[in-house]
Amino acid sequence: MMQSLTNRAKPVDRRPMNFVDRLYLPAVLKGMSITFGHIFKKPPTIKYPEQTREFSPVFRGLHVLNRDEEGRERCTACGLCAVACPAEAITMEAAEREPGEENLYREEKYAARYEINMLRCIFCGLCEEACPKDAIYLSETFAPSNFARKGFIYGKKDLLIPNPVTQPEEYAKAKGKR
Ligand code: SF4
Ligand code: SF4
Repeated sequence: MMQSLTNRAKPVDRRPMNFVDRLYLPAVLKGMSITFGHIFKKPPTIKYPEQTREFSPVFRGLHVLNRDEEGRERCTACGLCAVACPAEAITMEAAEREPGEENLYREEKYAARYEINMLRCIFCGLCEEACPKDAIYLSETFAPSNFARKGFIYGKKDLLIPNPVTQPEEYAKAKGKR
């Protein structure tokens, strides 16, 4: 017999069944007593989504592309988040800000396209740490479920936070406690 590497293994009782064992009733009653015993215990589960648990302060959820206090996009498409990402989940395309777009984009360059593949993402938060512009952070929101793989490629329309100037309520809700 092979030697166990730990002492967690439980030896199986291989004795032949006696008359009481063959009745099965004691075993059934024992099982039912365990089941009914749990009815009066506080359930470890909650009724999600009606109830939610308090998140840990270090919880890392869905990404948010941030705006500044004037509602301008903060991201300059520098690519540092993509380089820092160990899962290679981030891609983007940079564009030059045109005259007259100063109220839309904070810097002279911005991300015309910004995508995160949530199926690759491991929610490590390195993109947030790498960003020099405070342009991306991980919120307390889950990535919703989806039936199609394509639904997990999040673009700017999914990631960009609402405008704090034109949509203050939506902005405050999306911002949460962070
Ligand atoms: S949280 Fe981590 S894995 Fe996900 S996009 Fe950011 S750096 Fe990549
Ligand atoms: S989110 Fe930050 S690190 Fe990533 S491209 Fe935009 S400015 Fe650069």
